[in-house]
Amino acid sequence: MSSEHAEVLIVGAGAGGISVASSLLKRKPSLKIALIDKAESHYYQPGWTMVGAGVFKPESTRRDMSSLIPSGVQHIKAFVTEFEPDKNSVTLDDGRTISYDRLVVAPGLKLNWAGVEGLEETLGKNGVTSNYRFDLAPYTWELVQKLESGKALFTQPPMPIKCAGAPQKALYLSADHWYRNGRIKNIDIAFYNAGAVLFGVKDYVPALMEYIERYETELKFQHNLVRIDGDKKTAWFEKTDDEGNKETVEAEFDMIHVCPPQQAPDFIRNSPLAGEGGWVDVDQNSLQHKKFDNIWSVGDVMNAPNAKTAAAARKQAPVVAHNIAADIDGHSRIAHYDGYGSCPLTVERGKIVLAEFGYGGKLLPTFPEWVIKGTRPSKAAWVLKKDILPGVYWNGMLKGREWMVRPIPAN
Ligand SMILES: Cc1cc2nc3c(=O)[nH]c(=O)nc-3n(C[C@H](O)[C@H](O)[C@H](O)COP(=O)(O)OP(=O)(O)OC[C@H]3O[C@@H](n4cnc5c(N)ncnc54)[C@H](O)[C@@H]3O)c2cc1C
Repeated sequence: MSSEHAEVLIVGAGAGGISVASSLLKRKPSLKIALIDKAESHYYQPGWTMVGAGVFKPESTRRDMSSLIPSGVQHIKAFVTEFEPDKNSVTLDDGRTISYDRLVVAPGLKLNWAGVEGLEETLGKNGVTSNYRFDLAPYTWELVQKLESGKALFTQPPMPIKCAGAPQKALYLSADHWYRNGRIKNIDIAFYNAGAVLFGVKDYVPALMEYIERYETELKFQHNLVRIDGDKKTAWFEKTDDEGNKETVEAEFDMIHVCPPQQAPDFIRNSPLAGEGGWVDVDQNSLQHKKFDNIWSVGDVMNAPNAKTAAAARKQAPVVAHNIAADIDGHSRIAHYDGYGSCPLTVERGKIVLAEFGYGGKLLPTFPEWVIKGTRPSKAAWVLKKDILPGVYWNGMLKGREWMVRPIPAN
């Protein structure tokens, strides 16, 4: 394969990109695949919630990117800056152009830290933290351990975000620590959520509300974090009432866990691949681009209305691999993605409310109720998250082993 052309070119070697490459190789071992990504490290981001609670060591969530690229796949160490779908090519940040027969777009989403005034300057100090960054999740745990009394705030930006449950997972695990060591009566906890509900799928809300009550958490809906001053330990929120009127609300804190606003990466938003909102515009069943039929997308970057999670990418990657193989073979027996995503809500150390659902909020539990009843806190789901899922990620999903996610062609 010349370095300038790939039969299948994959942009982004994250959870989705590597999984598609591996799943494609399982189907077509001689296919010439190239993966473009300049990042030196690959992260198991679902582990960061556990790092923020002192359960996982940060290093267990990181691996050298080069060690994960499937053998036989060309690794192009660069970032894509531009797409030219009419010419079947992409441009890289080092000026090179790479052409392709088929393209998979998987660069994840952009954490827009700059979208909150004053946030970037104060992250990692003054009690301001976020589990959304590898280097900051340990600081969350440090703050939680140190806080004896005062005000602890947790924020959630407007949807869509990756792992919609992660902002409240940080809350529950922090509060659980204070609850167990008797400090909680001296700590005021508040959850400032830009949205209007605690969790998007209503079946899980009653179990979550029990923990909101246990931790005596104040819920502040329709409050969007817009500014923060670390030195003054003050945050400002834009509050929207039911009539759409807006006002600014000020809150002081001793510690604040921020989930940043999120959007499609700039090079996607400004490309011909973007649909409404800037995300890659795909058919939600086939994950094929709506306009360019030799392009597919997987993971957080595309606009299918699923929960943006690694669990979703785990289900999507085999679908995309199957559909590309079908396209190469010239048959139409394509597979459909059902919108599956999963959010293990760590409500306390040792228990999880395992949300698993597809398009339209349809519950899609993996296990029978006697093993894990998703709508109730469960010890088995904690064991799954802590001891089993990391192995499923590193040794299953990223290696193209489609345990329980093998696609069934729809027609
Ligand atoms: C705190 C936190 C908790 C989470 N908890 C869970 C959970 O419990 N369960 C769950 O299933 N999911 C969880 N997630 C979400 C999950 O990690 C993501 O949904 C998943 O990683 C998305 O995969 P992806 O391949 O789309 O993007 P990513 O895994 O983010 O990978 C994107 C890759 O694209 C590369 N890239 C970016 N720009 C370019 C470019 N221009 N050119 C080439 N490459 C580029 C990046 O370097 C990166 O390697 C959590 C995430 C966070 C942050």
